[in-house]
Amino acid sequence: MLKLDFHPAGRHFLQIPGPSPVPDRILRAMSLPTIDHRGPEFGALGLQVLSGIQKIFKTTQPVVIYPASGTGAWEAALTNTLSPGDTVLMYETGHFATLWKKMAEALGLKPEFIGLPGIEGWRRGVQADAIEARLRADTSHTIKAVCVVHNETSTGVTSNIAAVRKAIDAAKHPALLLVDTISGLAAADYRHDEWGVDVTVSGSQKGLMLPPGISFNAVSKKAIEASKTAKLPRAFWGWTEIIEMNKTGYWPYTPNTNLLYGLNEALDMILEEGLDNVFARHDRLSAACRLAVNTWGLEVQCADPTVYSPILTGVMTPEGFDADAIRKTIYERFNMSLGTGLGKMKGRMFRIGHLGEANDLSLMATLAGCEMGLKIAGVKLAGSGVVAAMEYLAEQKIPPLKIAA
Ligand SMILES: *Cc1c(COP(=O)(O)O)cnc(C)c1O
Repeated sequence: MLKLDFHPAGRHFLQIPGPSPVPDRILRAMSLPTIDHRGPEFGALGLQVLSGIQKIFKTTQPVVIYPASGTGAWEAALTNTLSPGDTVLMYETGHFATLWKKMAEALGLKPEFIGLPGIEGWRRGVQADAIEARLRADTSHTIKAVCVVHNETSTGVTSNIAAVRKAIDAAKHPALLLVDTISGLAAADYRHDEWGVDVTVSGSQKGLMLPPGISFNAVSKKAIEASKTAKLPRAFWGWTEIIEMNKTGYWPYTPNTNLLYGLNEALDMILEEGLDNVFARHDRLSAACRLAVNTWGLEVQCADPTVYSPILTGVMTPEGFDADAIRKTIYERFNMSLGTGLGKMKGRMFRIGHLGEANDLSLMATLAGCEMGLKIAGVKLAGSGVVAAMEYLAEQKIPPLKIAA
């Protein structure tokens, strides 16, 4: 056992934007015995999760499940579809978009990184018109893929993927569209088929409420076609063999059996609640959270109200207050973890996660911890965000809990 030198009462508040808290139902499902991954029981489980996950991506195409973190599925998306030296158009929305670009460079691709300059670019989503303009100028079609992040977890800003699709179509450009919704899936509306996405990358430990350890590539027919001629080396990540074996519910290697039990349970929970209700819950919690931040007199990182993230809220700390020192105070005093500022935002912001199994009361506890922590840290607050959020939540018309007959 990991020994801590303290034993805090109650549960830890894991309010970072992933990993998100894992519900008891999922933890129990994962505690089942590990079975033979070539046996009959496993095949049934495999088929069940592979078809269930398609509903979450809103696709009828294959979804590849890797025993890897999201970063692995990023690599899979690039290596399956592209060749050494290919130019890819990537859009800088924040730290995760920047990391994906670094990976593209490391793999021998030529990323062109566009975006609004400085911190401003980290406060807004993808500007689809800039993508359209760049693609129109690329008359020889050297750009092979457009890569964007749907929910930029480092800032709390989403991007309009349908608008990016439109931009590519308007430019009549054949580039593939690759989208990272590692933190957006099962929390923000996402439509792989309808939005014409070629590869959607996601992971387990955010909206899906699972521990880290599995990740996904939802693919399109066009992406599969591209994979037949793409020349970047790939072995473990190669789609062909996995998709072939998945038809019977198995994998070419040992999959992450217990996490797949968890995924099966998570899919049940999400589909029982209903995807639209899940999205509405995230929207409601994020609206209450932003109201609290504004009532404190602090600024939300996202500067464009049309692309606020339902998953997390980035809170900018006032001049002279180190966001990480405030996070440390809150952790030590209230046993709550908040997200640190990443990259360009280090020390200037903290991130409040309200994703996965989050509900009204877990958000209220989180906001109370933040409000008390900010006060302890000496930040002068304009008003009580907790009171404002409570009033907002109390006014919302939510269908009452009912016991099924
Ligand atoms: C979490 C996250 C990643 C990285 O995923 P890992 O599971 O840590 O490898 C990439 N992109 C986004 C948007 C994320 O939220």
